[in-house]
Amino acid sequence: MIKEMKEFLASKYNITNKVLELYEKTIEDVKGEFDLLDDIREFNQAKVLNALQEERISESHFTNSSGYGYGDIGRDSLDKVYARVFNCESALVRPHFVNGTHALGAALFGNLRPNDTMLSVCGKPYDTLHGIIGINEESGMGSLKEFGVKYKQLELTSYGKPNLESIKKALLEDDSIRLVHIQRSTGYGWRKALVIEDIKTIIDCVRQIRSNTICFVDNCYGEFIDILEPTDVGADLVAGSLIKNIGGGIAPTGGYIAGTKECVEKASYRLTVPGIGGECGSTFGVIRSMYQGLFLAPHITIEALKGAIFCSRLMELAGFEVLPKFNDKRSDIIQAIKFNNKEKLIQFCKGIQVGSPIDSFVECEPWDMPGYTDQVIMAAGAFIQGSSIELSADAPIREPYIAYLQGGLTFDHAKIGILIALSRIIN
Ligand SMILES: *Cc1c(COP(=O)(O)O)cnc(C)c1O
Repeated sequence: MIKEMKEFLASKYNITNKVLELYEKTIEDVKGEFDLLDDIREFNQAKVLNALQEERISESHFTNSSGYGYGDIGRDSLDKVYARVFNCESALVRPHFVNGTHALGAALFGNLRPNDTMLSVCGKPYDTLHGIIGINEESGMGSLKEFGVKYKQLELTSYGKPNLESIKKALLEDDSIRLVHIQRSTGYGWRKALVIEDIKTIIDCVRQIRSNTICFVDNCYGEFIDILEPTDVGADLVAGSLIKNIGGGIAPTGGYIAGTKECVEKASYRLTVPGIGGECGSTFGVIRSMYQGLFLAPHITIEALKGAIFCSRLMELAGFEVLPKFNDKRSDIIQAIKFNNKEKLIQFCKGIQVGSPIDSFVECEPWDMPGYTDQVIMAAGAFIQGSSIELSADAPIREPYIAYLQGGLTFDHAKIGILIALSRIIN
């Protein structure tokens, strides 16, 4: 870091010499981790570029349809571009999905029927899915449970790997298991994300026993971290959010589903209604940004990943427990930092907010967010509300007080934001 930058950080943000020393050491340590990331980014950029070319995308696809949105070629071609990127039959990419949870919900409701069982093989799914499934809820909420879909759950092993023996046993004992739910990312847990190889092992294991069980992957935060996606290794269905990796920080809202033609079509009937599916839905002029975001996503995702690796090493050197470590193989953009202290956790998140381009003057506070049981604090001074491909940190307010940091549209911004956040807790 040049002298002028150090002086700038010290005068504008009170960043101390101690923090700047940790910075220098961190940069030295993480350098070697970045070469592999460049290879991944390059390959995914080629994949996306080629998909756009194969579908012959042109200015005329950036349409602004209205009303029913019949024959919106921008929308329909974007589905095909995504299907190519995911190397699968079909995709449904829509601004009408209000978030990732909505896309995941449509995929689940569309593909499960009364008396089917959904089997989660990665422990408890992400918090916002509890309401969809009907985990610890009263009746009357419209959950899968209320529609007669049963739910079972298997834990990961103590090493955070899938427990193949228990998956086999569960499938052999219960032939109502119609869908296996795999969550790639950490969520609000303390485990590493499942790498593509782990996901493949689960899918191969399920296939050995039953061919018609749907292997479904919650792919949130996982896109473009590897050169393969879950659909490359046999997943029938994946879903995620466009205000995370794959929207490239440009898509203003939305979600996607990708997979086999049958699974995606069934899911589409829960975005709209049976008989209409993906054939309606005007796109309000946002389609161009969805294309452009996809084009930028391989690059932006790796910027965010570099931020996570930097944060991991810096916080570890500052004496905090982190997961993953800076030199672990990653499969999502999330960095978890364990504070074991409520006040430090809150101060760290507030620091990320102070380091944001938007709403940097706002104090973020824990609040009762829809879909979550514990109070959650969310620092996200983002151009797009709540966008977590932008630099953001969030945490449910519960022991052992873990913050989840992700994003950064540029690695430089991530570094600055994280330095500000650290300064607030070690000064
Ligand atoms: C972000 C996320 C979701 C969906 O969250 P939304 O805020 O609704 O987009 C689902 N699962 C996991 C693992 C996630 O990280």
